[in-house]
Amino acid sequence: MIEIQNLSKVYRMGEHEVHALRGVTLSIEPGDFVAIMGPSGSGKSTLMQILGLLDTPTSGSYKILGREAAGLDDDELAVLRRETVGFIFQQFHLLARMSAEENVMLPLFYSGRSASEPNRAAHLLDQVGLASRKGHRPNEMSGGQQQRTAIARALVNDPSIVFADEPTGNLDSQSEIEIMAILRDLNERGITVVIVTHEEEIGRQAKRLIRMRDGVIQSDERLESVNGQREIEPDSTIDGGNRGADRVRPGLNESSRASSGTPIWMHFQQGFRTLWANKIRTALSVLGILIGVAAVVAMLALGRGAQAAIESQLSSLGSNLLVLRAGASRMGGVAQEAGSTAKLLPEDADAVLAEIDGVRMVAPSVNGRVQTDFGNKNWNTQVTATTTAFEAMKNSTPIIGRFFTDEENLKRARVAVIGATVVRELFGTANPIGEMIRVNRISFQIIGVLPEKGASGWRDQDDVIIVPLFTGMYRLLGKTYVESIDIEMKPGLDSKPIEASVIELMNLRHNIREEKTDGAFSIRNMADLQAALSQSSRTMSMLLAAIAGISLLVGGIGIMNIMLVSVTERTREIGLRKAVGAQSRDILLQFLTESLVVSAIGGSAGIVIGVSAVLILKSVTGWTMEITASSILMSFSFSATIGLVFGLYPARKASFLNPIVALRHD
Ligand code: ADP
Ligand code: MG
Repeated sequence: MIEIQNLSKVYRMGEHEVHALRGVTLSIEPGDFVAIMGPSGSGKSTLMQILGLLDTPTSGSYKILGREAAGLDDDELAVLRRETVGFIFQQFHLLARMSAEENVMLPLFYSGRSASEPNRAAHLLDQVGLASRKGHRPNEMSGGQQQRTAIARALVNDPSIVFADEPTGNLDSQSEIEIMAILRDLNERGITVVIVTHEEEIGRQAKRLIRMRDGVIQSDERLESVNGQREIEPDSTIDGGNRGADRVRPGLNESSRASSGTPIWMHFQQGFRTLWANKIRTALSVLGILIGVAAVVAMLALGRGAQAAIESQLSSLGSNLLVLRAGASRMGGVAQEAGSTAKLLPEDADAVLAEIDGVRMVAPSVNGRVQTDFGNKNWNTQVTATTTAFEAMKNSTPIIGRFFTDEENLKRARVAVIGATVVRELFGTANPIGEMIRVNRISFQIIGVLPEKGASGWRDQDDVIIVPLFTGMYRLLGKTYVESIDIEMKPGLDSKPIEASVIELMNLRHNIREEKTDGAFSIRNMADLQAALSQSSRTMSMLLAAIAGISLLVGGIGIMNIMLVSVTERTREIGLRKAVGAQSRDILLQFLTESLVVSAIGGSAGIVIGVSAVLILKSVTGWTMEITASSILMSFSFSATIGLVFGLYPARKASFLNPIVALRHD
């Protein structure tokens, strides 16, 4: 059953080496009950771990059920381990967050048998006398009960050998008696048992007593013959013996086939179970991702909305537009009035159109604040007096009614085209066309309603009245000059030469002498303004994206913290899972599904919360915010990546640990 030849184990600790086993040769027959005794540090545990396929020897040969185990790699050992041996630890090593039954079922999960034998764990708990404790967690049970649960777990895959390393070392004497009774009972039913103990009394209960000292076997005493063997020989359970692993129980081959692929849904199930068992940790991880994703969704929406708002406003200005004013230009757009001697006249606009090549349309204008009223409603608004070219240049063709004509301008007709806000304030939902309103106590007839342009950050573009230039200048605002002349160039022209000739023409027309020409007239180029504004809006969205990125990163660091904090507990958990037969791949898959579930839940909740935050902000503040599919996708995948990377890193590290090292981690 077990043949070891000249086995040695050397632990390397930095510089020096510890020779824990120095050439042990031993064979164990099927059905035997072997006790190993010896002083502390004599290599008992080391031997047991190698025998139990939890560790590999430095040199020598180890044959179990006819198979050489010394050269096997980690994953091959895991498969052999779960098919042939059960291991009972002094410290029980139950998973704290799982019930007794779930703990017992754990090895079945890795051998692929949990689906086919759903009642097996309950049955085994029954056999060790814990039928009433199935749902209890380890911390709700006594030490003896925990160890009995661990024994049930060791038996769940039908091992032919059970190893127990000081199984009663942490227990009271009553529990010790119970555990020994169970082990003897197992042996009577044909299972080979190897136990380490330092209590003479317990060692004496075995059929064979081996004493060790300083890594070698000192004595080997037969206390009782392996007489159970005859009775159990017909039972195929231990029939394999030294005759070869291919003759082991039929169930084994079946399970080894299943082992090559534990179905993905079972990993999900396992992942969900672990997540559910660690609710607070899970909730914190979810929260980290949630905050990150929500912040990214909201920030991106805000940035994009701002950009879109600025762009739509700019496009309504027109990119071939120059604005000519008297006086030096000033940031903020209001031309200097005081101190500038020159005044622009309506005729200047005609001259620009007639004399300068490349100019397509011109629209002189004056502006002012006016009080309007209709019936018992009144409203203070802005009036723009301009010419008919304004309609085409500023995309202002009325949605209902019409724009005024050149003739009406010349006649100083009292007609007005009004913006949507003015309509709402004065008329509510009624049709304003044809109605007479009073503007600064002068009656005007409404002839058209402007298309809605929306609010920009600093001004409502729909809160405006447009009247003919001469009407506005002479009847309404009492001005004999125009404040600005909008000039639209033919498309595709370079604006600089045109700007220069316009200025030159103005200086000429207004007799500005050479030395004073500087600053008498100025031109603002909308294309430049547009470029500057969209540059700053891009900067702003990048800033917002950076803030969002930082919050994602903070969320990620939060997750990493939680993962690091739990790494101790998880390292032992991983050690235990490997000890009961999990391969590295199983461990990785488990953590992958856990991270995926956390990221998916956190990400979806983050999107829902981010989108609701955007909608609420939008309705409360009236900001333009734009949610795009790409921003949602981006934040989701980013958070998923963070979750995966930070979640997988510790798992990956631990999945390569040898199970004993992982189990000893603290
Ligand atoms: P026992 O179980 O008989 O008390 P062990 O097998 O645990 O003895 O240890 C045998 C020797 O190997 C001891 O000297 C111990 O300090 C050393 N040893 C055990 N495990 C390790 C390890 N992981 N790293 C380094 N030395 C170890
Ligand atoms: Mg020990």
